[in-house]
Amino acid sequence: MCGFIGIIKLNGKDVAEELVTGLLSIQHRGQDSSGIITSDRSRFHIKKNAGLVSNVFSRSDVKSLKGNVGIGHVRYSTIGFDIENDSQPFFVNYPFGIALAHNGNIANYEEIRSSLEKESHRQLTSRCDAELILNVLADEMSRISGEFSIGKVFDSLGPLMKKLNGSYSAVAIINGHGLLAFRDPNGLRPMIFGKNDSGFIFASETVVLNLLDYTYIRDVKPGEAIFIDNNGNIHSKIIDAREKTPCMFEWVYFARPDSTIEGRSVYDVRLRLGEELAKRWDKDVDVVIPVPDTSRTAAMGFAKAIGAEYREGLIKNRYVGRTFIMPAQKKRDNAVKLKLNPITSEIKGKKIALVDDSIVRGTTSKRLVSLLRKYGAREIHLVVTCPPIKYPCFYGIDIATRKELIASDKSVEEIRKFLGADSITYQTIEGLKRAIGMNSICTACLTGNYPTNISETDISRFEKIREGERSRVV
Ligand code: SF4
Repeated sequence: MCGFIGIIKLNGKDVAEELVTGLLSIQHRGQDSSGIITSDRSRFHIKKNAGLVSNVFSRSDVKSLKGNVGIGHVRYSTIGFDIENDSQPFFVNYPFGIALAHNGNIANYEEIRSSLEKESHRQLTSRCDAELILNVLADEMSRISGEFSIGKVFDSLGPLMKKLNGSYSAVAIINGHGLLAFRDPNGLRPMIFGKNDSGFIFASETVVLNLLDYTYIRDVKPGEAIFIDNNGNIHSKIIDAREKTPCMFEWVYFARPDSTIEGRSVYDVRLRLGEELAKRWDKDVDVVIPVPDTSRTAAMGFAKAIGAEYREGLIKNRYVGRTFIMPAQKKRDNAVKLKLNPITSEIKGKKIALVDDSIVRGTTSKRLVSLLRKYGAREIHLVVTCPPIKYPCFYGIDIATRKELIASDKSVEEIRKFLGADSITYQTIEGLKRAIGMNSICTACLTGNYPTNISETDISRFEKIREGERSRVV
C-alpha cells in the first residue's frame, strides 16, 4: 500500500510545500520511502529516498523542488526489496518527459517486464511496479506518431489497461503539458479528485484535501483518466471500466478515520462494523477494549450496541511503526513487544471483549492475549471487525502468502486455541458489506474470488516470489 498526491497550480506558484505537507497526512500509508518530483515546464526536479517524509525532505529540498506541477509519494513495499532504489516517483525522457507515482500492485509484473525488455528494449532499473507502469505508458505513447496531444495520452491508456493485471491509481506529470491521473478498471485503490482557486489535486485520501484546503469534487471513476492541462482545462475519459470493486481493507484498516472513500466516511463504516458484530454477540463482558489505534471506532460502536463500557486498556507507543507495515517478520515481532502496554486497573479481574481490526498472521493477537492474561484478565473474548483472511492479496496490501495467514488452513476454533482466547467472534462478509454500504467490493483475500484474472497457478507463482523476497529482507 502507498499514498500519493498530484497537484497542478494554475497561479504559477511552486507546489513542493503543499506536497510535503500533504504527504505528512498520509504517512500511515507507507513508511519505507518518500519522494517528490516537480516540473517547472522546462525540467524535472526530484528528491526521493528511504525514510519518513520528515526525514527525507529538508527546507532546502523544498526550495529546490521548483515548479507548479508535482507529484509526491509515500511507499510501503509489497514487491521489491531495495527500498532506496525502488522509491517513487520515477521518470522517463522519451517520447516526452513523463514522471509517475502510483498506489497498487501489478500482478503480472514479471510477464510485462520481460515483454518490455525483449520487445520494446526498455530496461528497468528497479523492482518497483510504478517504473513498469511508467514504461508501459511511455512505450504505448511512442507507438502513436505525431506531437503531444491529449488524445494520444488517452489512446495510450487503452492498451495499457488491457495489459496490466492488478490495481493502480496513478498520477503522472507530462512535462510542459499538464497533470494526468488514471485508475484501474476495477477501481481497487482509492483516488480522490479536488480543486481550489489555485488549482487541482489528486490524492489517495480526502484528508489531504482537508489539510491543504481543496474542495472534494469526486472520486476518480474505475478505468477513468483525467488530464488537467496548463490552462486548467479538465479532460476526462472512461478508458476501460469493469465491475467496480474497491478494496474493503481501506475502510477496515488502512485509511484514516477522518477520510471518506467512495462517499463513505471511514469513521462511520468502522462504527457500523462494531454494530454489525454486536448483532451476533451473546456473551457477558465487563469492558470493551480496543487494540489501538485502528480498532477504536469499531470498539465504540460495538460497546454501545451491546451496552457494555468502552475503556482504554492498552496504551500505544506512538513512536513505533505499525507492525503490519514492517517489511520482515523479525522486525514485526520486536515491534509488537515495544508497541502496546496495558493499564492494569482496566484489566485485572475483568471479562474483556478485545476488539481488533483484523487477524493476519496472528502474532500480534497471540502476544496481546498472553499479555492481558499476565495482567490478570479473567476472560478474553476477541472480536474481529474483518472476516477471516485466507488468501493472498495481489492488489497492494501486504497479505502475501497463505503460509503466513493463520486463517488459510485453520478453523475458527483452531485459531482460538492457538491465540489462547476464550472465544473469537469474526465479522461476516455480509456484515462487512452492510457496514460499508456497498455490495460490490473486493473481498478476494476472504473468498479467493479475485476481481481480475488470477489463476491458482498465479497464486502459487506469486507466493514463491514473495517468499524469496521475504528471505532477502529478513
Ligand atoms: S484482496 Fe483483500 S486486501 Fe487485497 S484489494 Fe482485495 S480486499 Fe483489499
